[in-house]
Order: sequence, then structure tokens, then C-alpha cells
Amino acid sequence: MARESFAIGSVRVRAGASRAVELPLTRLVTGGDVSVPVQVVHGREPGPVVWLDAAIHGDEVVGVEVIRRVLGQLSPRELRGTVVAVPVVNVFGFMEGDRYLPDRRDLNRSFPGSARGSLASRIAHLFMTEVVAKCSVGIDLHTAADRRANLPQIRADLDDPETRRLALAFGAPVALHAAIRDGSLRQAARAAGARVLVYEAGEALRFDDESIGVGVAGVFRVLAALGMLPEECTPEAVAGAPAPAPYVSRASGWVRARGSGILQLDVGLGDLVEQGRRLGGISDALGRRPRVVHADRDGIVVGLNRAPLVNIGDAVVHIAAVDEAPGGHIADERRLTAGRSVRS
Ligand SMILES: [Zn+2]
Repeated sequence: MARESFAIGSVRVRAGASRAVELPLTRLVTGGDVSVPVQVVHGREPGPVVWLDAAIHGDEVVGVEVIRRVLGQLSPRELRGTVVAVPVVNVFGFMEGDRYLPDRRDLNRSFPGSARGSLASRIAHLFMTEVVAKCSVGIDLHTAADRRANLPQIRADLDDPETRRLALAFGAPVALHAAIRDGSLRQAARAAGARVLVYEAGEALRFDDESIGVGVAGVFRVLAALGMLPEECTPEAVAGAPAPAPYVSRASGWVRARGSGILQLDVGLGDLVEQGRRLGGISDALGRRPRVVHADRDGIVVGLNRAPLVNIGDAVVHIAAVDEAPGGHIADERRLTAGRSVRS
């Protein structure tokens, strides 16, 4: 018996087909309809229904490109299950290169939303009812916020065994057990019964090959781990190489500037650092009154402030403590070698 068609918006996508769908949202103030574009790849064979989304923060463009490349390689004839791809959730922010909605609301603090709330709340509600409600797993693609950069990393509930399995299958350099944020898609989707991986990589308003490449490979590895790709497409085979075992972290924090000035950083994304190690310096425009920025814990650098100027209290370096290293459990964190990069 043929697989049932997939209903979304006002259309039904038949099994074995890939179809673009527009979910109507509102009208522009100048007239003209605004809709959220979706591509549904409805496999011929039954299997899990998975969503991919990006640009919930409108300036976070890396995931838009990740989804474009994934869609270019997905065949509905071979797929077991369904992929619902939503490359631009915050269409208003995306058009403006802006993180927020026009009223400055943060879409990722507006879930699960409501049909009669603010614009952010309505987009959240549309996404929950048309996408999340039909899926068992989601991959939510983000970058660092303005003027920051993130090492490619998965943030997820690592206490849930299946979520942990998928998070490690993704193969990003770091898997971080991250606290749920109120109003986030991850929180609302979890409450609705879906498992969510948040991929964080790169910078706002910039494409970079590493973040995009790790993201594309990671999505295919997760689809393979869910049994959605043909048998020869093991997680290793689809991405061309075995997934590197990630560093697993259960806690992370930002080192903050202890003074205002011009920032010079001595560390890069992926560097392993020891508590007390110099991470950089902050001085005035003539190089005077230098202050050293020190690591406040052992761990791996997963985020950096790229702004040349910082004020006292600004987040400067994001360090994730390492609970499990690729070679096995770290019994003695002093084995971390200062400055060693996990990237080749
Ligand atoms: Zn984001």
C-alpha cells in the first residue's frame, strides 16, 4: 500500500515527492503577501518525520545554506520518512539582516506562541502547529549572535539517551548539555514530545565553509542514524568520513572583561585551555593600562567575542568544561594541553 500523503498548509504532498509549500503569515505594510517557505521531502517509504529549521534569528544565515545544500542531495525516492525543511523561519529579520522581529521581539523567546499574539508569537504558533506537531525530531540551526563566533557545536538534552545518541551522531566537535531557555523552540518542541538538536556554528551574516560543511555532514549523519537513508548510507558513509567523536560538556560559561578597552585575543575556537591561562589582553588605544583575560576553568573554547572594543562585563571567551574527551573519559583534566586545537 502506498504511503499516505503529507498534509501541510493547504496542500498534500504525495509519497515519493518533494514539494515547495508557502505557509501564509501576513501582508507587508506596503501590500503583498508574506509567507514562510517550506520544502517537504516526503519519502516513498515510511520512517521518521524530521524538521530542519534556520534563521529563527534573522541574521543567522549559516543554517539557510546548510538546508539549501541538504535539500540538493535529498531524494524523496530513496528517503525513508519525511524531511520538512524551513530555511527561513523569521522571514522579517532575514530580509533585514536582523536578529529580531520588527517590534524587536526575539522569536526564540516567543514559543510556543499563539494565533492572536504578537507577530513573533504568531510565527511561533504557525511553526508549532504546521511543523513541530508533525515531527518527532528537529534540528534547529543557529550561529553566534552579532560580533561573536561559535565553534560548531550541538546543544541538546544529553540526559535523554536517544537525544544524546543523535547529538553524538551529528559529529560536531562539541556536544554541550545546555539548559533550556524559556520561550525557545527547543523548550516548546520538547514539551510537544519532539527531540531537538540545536546546532550552533559560525557568525551572524557570514557564510563560512567549516560551519556549513560540518552542518551539512551532521544533518546527513543524523538522518542516517534515524535509518532514513538507504542502507549503504551509514552515518560514516554519507559524510565521506567517520564522524569525529565530540568533546562532551555539561557546563560552560563566558569569561567577562574586567575592564573596558581594545581586545586582543590569543586563543581561537577549538583551543583547549587550562584554568588561569592567558586568553588575551585588554588595553587602551595607546596600549596602556593592559589587563589580562584569564581562563576561569579548564575546557575548550566554543565561542569568542570578535568585537575589537569591549566594555567592562562584556562576554569575551566562552569555555565549555570537558566531561568526556574523544579518547574516553577525562579522569584528570590537567591532561588538557593549553593551546592545542581540535581542528586540523
Ligand atoms: Zn540564534
